[in-house]
Amino acid sequence: MPEGDTIHYAARRVRAVLVDREIRSIETPHPRHRHDRWPERLSGLAVKSVDAHGKHLFMRFEGDLTLHSHLRMTGKWGTYRRGERWGRARRRAWLVIATDEHEVVEFDGPVLELMTESRTRFDLRLSALGPDILAEEFDGRSFLRRLRDDDPTRGFGDAILDQRNLAGIGNLWKAEACFTAAVDPWKKTGHVTDHEALAVARAARAAMQPSAKNGFRVKRQVYERGGLPCPRCGTLVRGRGQGDDNRTTWWCPGCQT
Ligand SMILES: [Zn+2]
Repeated sequence: MPEGDTIHYAARRVRAVLVDREIRSIETPHPRHRHDRWPERLSGLAVKSVDAHGKHLFMRFEGDLTLHSHLRMTGKWGTYRRGERWGRARRRAWLVIATDEHEVVEFDGPVLELMTESRTRFDLRLSALGPDILAEEFDGRSFLRRLRDDDPTRGFGDAILDQRNLAGIGNLWKAEACFTAAVDPWKKTGHVTDHEALAVARAARAAMQPSAKNGFRVKRQVYERGGLPCPRCGTLVRGRGQGDDNRTTWWCPGCQT
């Protein structure tokens, strides 16, 4: 599943080929958007900015319109030179934006909507998002406040997957960051100190930043390494479902406390 670093990386690539370029065409091939008239509504408008917050991507046009996307489990953004072969089949494209040199394509996009700029600020799902783990300046104070307002009996690993506490972390970076900071993801949030919570956020940020810049990369320490020895202490790594969604969390019971 794409996490915040993948979305920031996509935003970076899309930004480079669309902002301040003349848009030649916008197409919405998927039947769900057949009646939305996006090509007409966006015709002649330039893309002002492309940015990410957590796992959400926002493409802001001149005037007051913003395309909002969230890839969930299946979606993907691609940027291609004209004539270059796409990474997925043409029928899976939901949105195609073309300039003279490039095509930007959103494939299999479960959340793709055109909204006014003010709605992006007042939309309940979006305004509830926690601080972005990859923001230029991470707002640790807001993260801690949200964490402390959450249920103190909730497992810490589950709490940091909640995008209202911290935006951008998914299951992989959750497991890896808890390991790097040597914090047990099963510990009740109320028992995790501020220092520990911020150490996990710092670890996640440090690991995700290179991916956001250069494309996804990870040197897995515990993720999907159940039964293998911990790279730090040699204890066997374990994996078990956690939280309401029962997402598997991997951790080392030897050195994560
Ligand atoms: Zn260990």
